Amino acid sequence: MTDPFVNMYSDTVTRPSAGMRQAIAEAECGDDMSGSDPTVNRLEAMVAELLDKEAAVFACSGTQSNQMGVRAHCRSGDELLIADTGHIANFEAGGPAILSGVTCRLLPSHNGMLDVDDLEGKLRAENQHLCQSRLLCVENTTNAGGGRPWPLEQLDRVGQWAHANGLKTHMDGARLFNACVAGGYSAAEATRHCDTVSICFSKGLGCPMGSILVGSEEDIYWGRRARKLFGGALRQSGIVAAAAVYALENNIERMADDHANARAFAEGLVGVDGILVNPEDVESNLVFFEIDPELGDATQLAERAMENGLKIGASGSHRLRACTHLDVSREQVLEAVEIIGRSVAEGVGHLSGSATGPYARG
Ligand SMILES: *Cc1c(COP(=O)(O)O)cnc(C)c1O
Repeated sequence: MTDPFVNMYSDTVTRPSAGMRQAIAEAECGDDMSGSDPTVNRLEAMVAELLDKEAAVFACSGTQSNQMGVRAHCRSGDELLIADTGHIANFEAGGPAILSGVTCRLLPSHNGMLDVDDLEGKLRAENQHLCQSRLLCVENTTNAGGGRPWPLEQLDRVGQWAHANGLKTHMDGARLFNACVAGGYSAAEATRHCDTVSICFSKGLGCPMGSILVGSEEDIYWGRRARKLFGGALRQSGIVAAAAVYALENNIERMADDHANARAFAEGLVGVDGILVNPEDVESNLVFFEIDPELGDATQLAERAMENGLKIGASGSHRLRACTHLDVSREQVLEAVEIIGRSVAEGVGHLSGSATGPYARG
């Protein structure tokens, strides 16, 4: 049940391992919506404790748990502040506007991160003309920003600034554990100035689905109401929560291997003429690189690579993203370098460029 090609399209493509399937098979279940699924309750308690927060609520997807966070903090007419590359603003189908009546203020960022200088002067005055600044969203690791783990001091600085200025804070921690492994800090340290945190189990942790929103009793009360409203309150979800418990116990430390594989991939690409990449920029499991526009564009290279047995995605007109995860080995990563080299050498400029990417176009 593995792909007949090297799949570095995303860390969402992992299949549940034998051990994880065993945990799923043995999961104790109840009715989650009424609070009586023991496995979901165990998972929620486990993650709340890991982050040193009061409560947590299991969700179907990272989009859902992010939007539950937005709705927990904001009222219709409020504004959230976010890096211009942020997932919540760019890749969640307009969720803040549609689901919570919230506008997003996108701020120029550095690799998807903001500092106090970027935020100062961006708060709205209390005034009938203006929407009200309510929430700061940070993403760790940054995705479209380049797979960067925030430095802990910067998270502290920005979180403290936000609270001192009356904002609530939400972390899109879809890849929080990648950030912890790469940044050398604990999940509790990383999130100590975040009112709510969303974490994905379906990315590097290797689960078939699931996310979680973590925070205070009060914020999670509102998050849970939003989950119901958004159609995400489930019944015997212990079946999938069991995979998440398994992942927390088995799949965190091993992310260091994914990060080393990502670095090795980037280092290999340095030797490919026509590809631009800086291995120093690769800090976690995401590798962004560019194709020389003289040779072709990102969708054309992705199309040729697919023909040659490697799936990656376009993330801009000439920018591509490759992802390492628990279902790609070091050997496959080196094979992927060879495929990119061969694809560029064969020439891609004449192709239709029909391949798509997670964030294709632009
Ligand atoms: C994957 C991801 C999410 C969640 O997206 P889903 O499509 O709901 O899985 C949220 N934020 C970031 C930064 C992500 O990479």
